[in-house]
Amino acid sequence: MFKGICIEKTDTGQAVSRKTLSVSDLPEGDVLVDVSWTTLNYKDALAVSGKSPIVKRYPMVPGIDFAGVVAESENPSYHKGDAVVLTGWGVGEKHWGGWAEKARVDGSWLVPLPDGLSSRQAMAIGTAGFTAMLCVMTLEAQGVTPDKGEILVTGAAGGVGSVATALLARNGYRVAALTGRPEEEDYIKRLGARRIVDRERYAEAGRPLEKGLWAGAVDVVGGKVLANVLASMDYGGVVASCGLAGGMDLPTTVAPFILRGVTLAGVDSVMCERVRRMVAWQRLAQELDLRLLDEMVEEVPFGRILEVAPRMLEGRIRGRVVVSMSS
Ligand code: NDP
Repeated sequence: MFKGICIEKTDTGQAVSRKTLSVSDLPEGDVLVDVSWTTLNYKDALAVSGKSPIVKRYPMVPGIDFAGVVAESENPSYHKGDAVVLTGWGVGEKHWGGWAEKARVDGSWLVPLPDGLSSRQAMAIGTAGFTAMLCVMTLEAQGVTPDKGEILVTGAAGGVGSVATALLARNGYRVAALTGRPEEEDYIKRLGARRIVDRERYAEAGRPLEKGLWAGAVDVVGGKVLANVLASMDYGGVVASCGLAGGMDLPTTVAPFILRGVTLAGVDSVMCERVRRMVAWQRLAQELDLRLLDEMVEEVPFGRILEVAPRMLEGRIRGRVVVSMSS
C-alpha cells in the first residue's frame, strides 16, 4: 500500500483527496516506478482546481511529472534500480501521474535521469523547465541568435519564465523580463535578466503594431499580453508561445506577421518526440546553473501540495515547486 492523491468525479464536479492505494489499482504499463520527487506545475494546479478540463479520466492521480527509481520492469530499456524522469505524455491527465509514491507507465515515456542531475534537481526543472529549454531551442532553430537583439520573457518570476531567463542569459542573450511582480526584480536579475518590463504595459489591448523592440520572445501568458508582444516584435522576430497563464484567447491582428515577418512558434512539451526530449534534458543538465536552480525552488512536503496549488493559479509562486514524496 502507498499514499497518493486522487481526483474523483462527483455529481457536482470533482473531489480531490488523499488516498491509500495499492499496486493493483495502478493503470497498465510495463515499468513500475518508486516516485521520489514530483512537482506542482500550472497544469496540476488547474487539474485539482477543476476549473479547466485537464483531467480526461476519473479517478485520476494528478501530477504531470515525476522522478524516481524503477522498481519493476518488463521493458528491455529499463531495469530495477534505474533512475528515471517522466514529463508529459498525458500522465496526470489521462494516465495516473506522479502525485503518488508509485507510478506504472509505458517505458517509452521515461527518460534516464540525465548525468549531472539529482532526482530532486530534475524535478526542480520539471515540465516547466523542460518547456523553457524547448522554447530556447525553438528560438535558436528559427535563427534567433544573441546578436539579433533583446529577448522578452513573460511570466518571468514563474516556473517556465525563471528557467527560460536563466538559460537565455547563460547562452549570451540579452533578456528583458516581463513581470507583474516588481518585488521580484532582484530575483529575476540574479537569474540573468538585464531589465524588467512592467506587465501593466502589456496588459491592455494595444495597437496592431507598436515600436519593434524584441528579436525573440518566450511567452507563457497568452491573451492580451501575447497580442502586445507580437505587436512589439522587431522585424523578423520570433515568439515561442507555450502558455496561457493570462488567458487562452489571442486578440491579435495579422499585422505583425504580414508587415514584419514575425513568426509565432508553438511549443508543446507533452507529445515532444523522444530525440528532442533527450537533447533538451542533456542541455538542461549542462547549461542550467544549478546554484540558480536552487534559488528558484520552493520545497513543499507531499502533505501540503494541495494547500499550495491555489497560489500557483493566483500567480503567487516564485520559480518552481518541488515535492518530496518522503515527507
Ligand atoms: P507559473 O504559475 O509558475 O508562472 C506563470 C507566471 O505567469 C506567473 O508567475 C506570472 O508571472 C505570470 N502570470 C500569471 N497570471 C498572469 C496573468 N493573469 N496575466 C499575466 N501574467 C500572469 O506557471 P508555469 O511557468 O509553470 O507555466 C506557465 C504557463 O505555461 C502555464 O499556462 C502552463 O500551463 C504553460 N505550460 C505549457 C507547457 C507546454 O507544454 N506548452 C508546459 C509547461 C507549462 P509574473 O508574476 O512574473 O508576472
